[in-house]
Amino acid sequence: MTVSKLATDGDWSWQSSGHFGGHRSPIDMIVLHHNAGTGSGVVPNCWINRQASAHYQIEDGKIISCLDEELVAWHCGAAGYDNNGHTIGIEHQNSTGDPSWLVSPENQEKSAQLVAEIATRRGIPIDRNHIVRHREMPNCATVCSGGLNIDWIVNRAKEIASGKPAQTMPEQAKKKGLKKMSYIQLTSKFQGFGLTFPKDSVWEYNAEAHTFRYIGNPAALAALQKANEQDDLIPWTGADLLTVVQEFYLGVDKFSNIDSFKK
Ligand SMILES: [Zn+2]
Repeated sequence: MTVSKLATDGDWSWQSSGHFGGHRSPIDMIVLHHNAGTGSGVVPNCWINRQASAHYQIEDGKIISCLDEELVAWHCGAAGYDNNGHTIGIEHQNSTGDPSWLVSPENQEKSAQLVAEIATRRGIPIDRNHIVRHREMPNCATVCSGGLNIDWIVNRAKEIASGKPAQTMPEQAKKKGLKKMSYIQLTSKFQGFGLTFPKDSVWEYNAEAHTFRYIGNPAALAALQKANEQDDLIPWTGADLLTVVQEFYLGVDKFSNIDSFKK
């Protein structure tokens, strides 16, 4: 049996359903899916009734093993192609619903760790030809894997495989000049996390506490700067909040003070 050392055991009872196969071709690709759901503990229970399965589920910042990698999961089957036979399938819990179907930065970091571990162990190149979305497999007409940021995951997996540890105080943020406490003004409207974040809204980013706090508009920030002699506003050119979160912020714990603009 082969299971990633990064995984915790899941509920294996669904396997009595027999919704998987035993004939394996050499494994040369990893396929990423989304749950199309934000709940926890939903997968793999649904596979008892659905003729489907995957090797891993990532939810709530955890990697859960669902099926021996040596067995064939039914995750990207298509008429005329042996898609399942040579691939490993990883499911991801969403952080938002239809239509954005995002996956939280925390779960994406776990995904990158798992992809790096599997690819390194099996000699699979960490690139976009070998790490793909469900909808990129032959003859698969599906929106899966939604808004999961696969390019970020692949880039991050490359970093991890080359020995870069998981980031807590983001190195990239420091490189770009962000201080422990910085202020970010959004250059475009952003929808996600169940909210609409207005264009030009200003956020206080605390890299140590892993929080984003809503400050208000640029005028509110100017007042704050005047009061505290703060001068470290970082106008975020050409980026939306999601980019900020994904690029710099691998462990968002909290957005606070959001009620002040929540509609
Ligand atoms: Zn899928």
